[in-house]
Amino acid sequence: MADVIIAGGGPTGMMLAAELTLAGVEAAIVERRRTPELVGSRAGGFHSRTIEILDQRGIADRFLAEGQRVQAAFFGNTKLDVSDFPTRHPYTLGLWQNHIERILAGWIEELGVPVHRGLEVAGFAQDHSGVEVQLADGGRMHAQYLVGADGGRSAVRKAADIDFPGWDATRSNLIAEVEVTEETPAGVRIDEVGIHGLHLMEDGRTMRVIVTERQLGPATEPTLAELGKALTEIYDTDFGIHSPKWISRFTDATRQAATYRSGRVLLAGDAAHIHAPSGGQGIGLGIQDAVNLGWKLAQVVKGLTPDSLLDTYHAERHPAGARALKHTMAQSLMQRADPRIGALADTVADLLTIEQARKQVAGLISGLDVRYDLGDGHPLLGRRMPDLDLVTVNGPLRVFTLLHDARAVLLNLAAPGSIDVGPWAGRVQLVDAAYDGGWELPVIGPVSAPEAVLIRTDGHVAWTGGGTQSGLREALTTWFGPARP
Ligand SMILES: Cc1cc2nc3c(=O)[nH]c(=O)nc-3n(C[C@H](O)[C@H](O)[C@H](O)COP(=O)(O)OP(=O)(O)OC[C@H]3O[C@@H](n4cnc5c(N)ncnc54)[C@H](O)[C@@H]3O)c2cc1C
Repeated sequence: MADVIIAGGGPTGMMLAAELTLAGVEAAIVERRRTPELVGSRAGGFHSRTIEILDQRGIADRFLAEGQRVQAAFFGNTKLDVSDFPTRHPYTLGLWQNHIERILAGWIEELGVPVHRGLEVAGFAQDHSGVEVQLADGGRMHAQYLVGADGGRSAVRKAADIDFPGWDATRSNLIAEVEVTEETPAGVRIDEVGIHGLHLMEDGRTMRVIVTERQLGPATEPTLAELGKALTEIYDTDFGIHSPKWISRFTDATRQAATYRSGRVLLAGDAAHIHAPSGGQGIGLGIQDAVNLGWKLAQVVKGLTPDSLLDTYHAERHPAGARALKHTMAQSLMQRADPRIGALADTVADLLTIEQARKQVAGLISGLDVRYDLGDGHPLLGRRMPDLDLVTVNGPLRVFTLLHDARAVLLNLAAPGSIDVGPWAGRVQLVDAAYDGGWELPVIGPVSAPEAVLIRTDGHVAWTGGGTQSGLREALTTWFGPARP
């Protein structure tokens, strides 16, 4: 019996499994797909904060080695340069989702995460002692907790009877990888129907096609004939499409689970929120859900913290998701060339030339501006800790290196030995270091230098100190459980 069963081995499920494993908890993935390969390219990459999170675990280089660093944070059709943001990764990484998943799969394999492929979670029953996971083939598995990371049509969410309020689709797009016999136009076309484009892939033969359908398409698997029809309606030709590798349909439906937790069952990633892909935030949101939940769930499983800690997962990630969803709704609206919408898009584009407006919106799309409401105090509180270059007795060290093992850090930047982690020493590593550079946060700008910082496992700051330890005990208790002798 695993401690935690994760339904779904997409980016969210794999990241969560890694987080739990690093924390010393047994996590197993149950994945419907028989093979690890994702058919089709799907997402085109992720933004700065996602790269930072991977950097916090020491695996960003694997993705950077294969992807392309580009300035590709968009709001609607307006490109937002993030190169001046104070981060080691002030860019978007262009990398197809099938490669992203392959790299994540390699990592969790190294960590020894069991992945049960070809099995579909159909439902569950839970009581005070655990969860019985019911499989579509009639099998049963048991765990202390179940996480639904099983995508937008989440069976776990449905079985948990969790509401999924939001907005129905108004538009649908077909996305495909096919071959063509005719010349195709370069670039993206935006007209009164929506956004369309054909893009030659790395093999020099396959075309990635995205076309908005004139009428909202049905919720069925699309066919080559439907793709041909949609293309002809826009381009007056279907370009002789043939040999499809992958055809899929996505919409601008936008919904968010009313609660991310129902007892011993939690939701993460697309299972918790769906939205139009405009802006490219889906993978990042799921990865952030996973790193927010992983360490909390691990501590509850180990009995270190009461299970009420799990409620902070919803309290923190639901508002962050809601904000991102609102932006994707606005963005997807602007990917249409209706004259009135065009006027709105032009106005927004004008406004985004204002420095602070650009930073504000780019902060959200890059994921760098996320702040969890941990109360008033230093601007760092609840925000992501910057990856500072520290000097320690053992030499230079980056802050993110300290997070590679997914262990929380109490960083003492004052005189060595001036702060004490006390009975939490087994749960939080105390690091004495010097740092004499500036402190700057994305969107916010320069902030005062704290003398000590408590960094949670997900890289968010839980406490800052300015010469005293006031509030430190409370913060340690809240996040890492009551003190034990
Ligand atoms: C066209 C398009 C472009 C996109 N572009 C971007 C982009 O550029 N950047 C970005 O960040 N995001 C993008 N996205 C969104 C991104 O693809 C998703 O947000 C992301 O895949 C969500 O990851 P996930 O792990 O939560 O869910 P999924 O990737 O959907 O993974 C869920 C997994 O669960 C499995 N599963 C489902 N049901 C069950 C079950 N009952 N039992 C067991 N297993 C099950 C599935 O097989 C799947 O492997 C795009 C999406 C689309 C459609």
